[in-house]
Order: sequence, then structure tokens, then C-alpha cells
Amino acid sequence: MGAILAQNTAWSNVERALAALRARGLLTPRRLGVVPPRRLARLIRPSGTFRIKARRLRAFLAYLRRRYRGRLRGMDRTPLAELRAGLLAVPGVGPETADSILLYALGRPVFVVDAYTRRVLHRHRLLSAAAGYEEARALFERHLPGDPRLFNEYHALLVAVGKRYCQSRPRCEECPLRFDLRGKPPRGGARRAGRRRRAPRGSAPVLPSP
Ligand code: SF4
Repeated sequence: MGAILAQNTAWSNVERALAALRARGLLTPRRLGVVPPRRLARLIRPSGTFRIKARRLRAFLAYLRRRYRGRLRGMDRTPLAELRAGLLAVPGVGPETADSILLYALGRPVFVVDAYTRRVLHRHRLLSAAAGYEEARALFERHLPGDPRLFNEYHALLVAVGKRYCQSRPRCEECPLRFDLRGKPPRGGARRAGRRRRAPRGSAPVLPSP
């Protein structure tokens, strides 16, 4: 549920919506599945675009009922590729949402890619600006052991770096990943970063350093 509520909003808003559902004992697929659409939309209002998300939640719950008798645990025995294809066929479930369900709810070894991740990869010359979601996901899954706990932590760290340092104007001088730039400016971010942080006259240039 959290994966759908989290689309295009901050997690703090999702928590408020989840708290409203929890307070009414609705945090199970079976109970949530019988909540009328308008009431569901009202309850999840804090998560934003609540009417759309209510429709998506209901579509996901219908899929869960149809394929797995309404139980997340039923998904455990389905091969990963088949499960992912099934989730992606649910209206409103895109790759990031599907992979969040697979990794966070089901503990499957799938790397979740978000906008922060792609920005860091692009600035570090690991991914072109035109690369899509699947290309970024494949890059991680090719180079990391397929361990859900590692994927979970790795993604969380990238999000933390993205929020704190790799913003629209990158703050490379303070970022823990600056060593990976090997003294080069971040791709696509150098000009803006330089404009913001001009070194005082006579001082050494501020460059990312190992
Ligand atoms: S070193 Fe710069 S480009 Fe790399 S992640 Fe940090 S802020 Fe972004």
C-alpha cells in the first residue's frame, strides 16, 4: 500500500495516510478491499492525488484477490519475472512502484530506481541522460550481489545523498561520493555548481577531492 501511496509525494505524507488507515483497522488487504471508493479516497487524502491513488489501490487489491486470494504471502511462490510482469499489468503500477512492492513488501532481490538514483548515476557518468528505468536497474543488478537487504540499504543511501547533496545544484564539496568523480566536475551540474560556489580570490579552486 505504501508503494502506491508514495507515488509523487514525500514519505511523511504517506505516513499520515497510513496512520488514518491504521487507526480504523484497515491496514490489511481484506479489510481495505471492502472500503467504498469515496471513503478510501478521503482516508488517504494526506498522500496527495488521493482519488487517483484510491483507484490504483483498488486495482492492486483486485489483482491480489484475483491471483492470490487477497494474500500477499501467496506471492512468495511465484517466480520473480512472472510476479513483476503481473504487477506491471495492474493499472497505475509502474516499474518503481512494482519494484518497491517486490523489494520492500516481499523481500525479492530487485533494485528500486528513483529520480535521485538516476541523477547520481548520470552525474557520475554511469548512465546517459536518455537512459530509462530498466537500464538503471540492470546496472545495479549486474554489479551487486542479489541481496534484498543490500539493495534496500544501497537505495536508502542514494536517496539520502540525493536529498542532502545531489540537489538540482550539486553540493559536491561536502558530498561523501565526491571521491568517485575523480577530480572531474559532475556531468551536467558543473556550471550551476560553479556559479553558486565561486572560490574567493586567491584561494585554491574548490574541486571534489578523494
Ligand atoms: S559528488 Fe556531486 S554529483 Fe556526486 S552525488 Fe555528490 S553531489 Fe551528486
